[in-house]
Amino acid sequence: MGMINKLYAELKAEQAQKQAIGKQNARYTGLNNRNRHNHHQRKQLDPIAFYSGFGISLKSGGSEWQLVKCAFHDDKKPSMSVNIKHGGYNCFAGCGKGSLIDFYMKYNNVDFKTACRELNI
Ligand SMILES: [Zn+2]
Repeated sequence: MGMINKLYAELKAEQAQKQAIGKQNARYTGLNNRNRHNHHQRKQLDPIAFYSGFGISLKSGGSEWQLVKCAFHDDKKPSMSVNIKHGGYNCFAGCGKGSLIDFYMKYNNVDFKTACRELNI
């Protein structure tokens, strides 16, 4: 989890920097709508909508952690737990665990920066 926290910290720092630059630019151009838009989208990254894109259906009214068939191995019975609030996953059959972004990175075999860009966060 330390690694993930570090990545989140890096992402946060990057976003703060972008925001600062955006504010600086706004002083000259009067426009910082793009930053506001990105911030809005980041907040709207909904785990249920996200996982449905991978054929994993989660129930919005169900428990916070829901058991589903793992996307990373040939799963006969559900052995992956997904958190519907923050989107973290945990496969008990040995595929490991991580955040929603980790899931995306692992599934698509892309690095953190690419995942953030493609997810628009
Ligand atoms: Zn698995």
